[in-house]
Amino acid sequence: MIKSKLPNVSTTIFSVMSQLANEHQAINLAQGFPDFNADSELISRLNYYSTQNYNQYAPMTGVEKLRVLLSEKYSNLYQSDYDFQNEINITSGASQAIFNVISTLIHPNDEVIIFEPAYDLYQPAVELFGGKIVPILLKYPEYSIDFEELKQKINDKTKLIIVNNPNNPTGKILSENDLKQFEQILKDSNCYLLADEVYEHITFDGKSHQSFAKLKSVKDKVFIIGSFGKLFHITGWKIGYILAEKELMKEFRKCHQFNTFSTHTPSQYAIADYLENPDHYLHLNDFFQQKRDLFVKGLALTNFEVLPCEGTYFVSANYAKISDLSDEEFVKQLTIKNKVATIPISAFYHHKTDNKVIRFCFAKKDETLLMALENLKSL
Ligand code: PMP
Ligand code: GLN
Repeated sequence: MIKSKLPNVSTTIFSVMSQLANEHQAINLAQGFPDFNADSELISRLNYYSTQNYNQYAPMTGVEKLRVLLSEKYSNLYQSDYDFQNEINITSGASQAIFNVISTLIHPNDEVIIFEPAYDLYQPAVELFGGKIVPILLKYPEYSIDFEELKQKINDKTKLIIVNNPNNPTGKILSENDLKQFEQILKDSNCYLLADEVYEHITFDGKSHQSFAKLKSVKDKVFIIGSFGKLFHITGWKIGYILAEKELMKEFRKCHQFNTFSTHTPSQYAIADYLENPDHYLHLNDFFQQKRDLFVKGLALTNFEVLPCEGTYFVSANYAKISDLSDEEFVKQLTIKNKVATIPISAFYHHKTDNKVIRFCFAKKDETLLMALENLKSL
């Protein structure tokens, strides 16, 4: 028998719910992926590069053109200064970037602060390297950060703070003032910060994304992570990236080169061509806001209490008026009886905190969202 490194971990809720949706032919609003295709222009670039023999190892750091374009994008959007040679790396999805930052930084007994509900990858990755999670609860239903609590939880052992903004699953986004508070905390402490910004371009109601890349004074403490899966509707390509000051990047690359070495080559070339046109990402917020509005309007006609959604392609809702079941049981019933699969928010807490809230993914065709609403309307 293998002595498990993750004895308390089972299959992720995303796989579990997608499988249940398949088994019961339910509409999958659980796992976060679009059910529409990516732009044919992007697909044809992938086709072009794979047929033109761009099929061997990419550089360990990533295809140069892609890194140059990312450097320009961050400079244009956030006036930040990341050198494409020494401070940007392409990764096999944001997941691999996050995992690799954790492998780079975390020694046994180091503490890592996360905010719960938290994306499910953070805790197991930290524990695999002997680190200890220090969770801070985002108080339901506002889900805002208590900065006083954060300051109190930081001590000599604190190595890293992980922040996901815009936030999955709460749909909350950070304000400029929130960022200033983080900046001061980083200045006053010895810890690093991992900014998981995979939903960077999905913010609503005219609110703009506050990237940690703006915080020049603490650049040497911050890792910024993004995902082309979210940006270009290609979650299955698993291409992400990381931006970090050169000394941090040097250490990151030491681990990255032995973790995966490099990332799928033709996808990187295709994405680079597509990224040249900012129209390909600057209108993502309008595109998803229309879907959010369509879905939320329909859900508001049911007994679900819809929670605010300022960003990401997830919206949460409380079902206390509909059922007394636990959220895990409720999502099972909803999948089997109403044919709509969702995610129980308790899956994002180490103590499985259950506020009777579930998460819907609205990155779907309008017709899929309308069909799901039809199935939910009797509730
Ligand atoms: N962070 C968050 C908050 C996510 O929701 C996801 C899921 N896409 C990831 C990281 C992982 O992104 P990727 O699919 O690029 O690995
Ligand atoms: N990020 C996606 C979500 O939150 C899932 C990715 C995965 O399946 N690991 O739904």
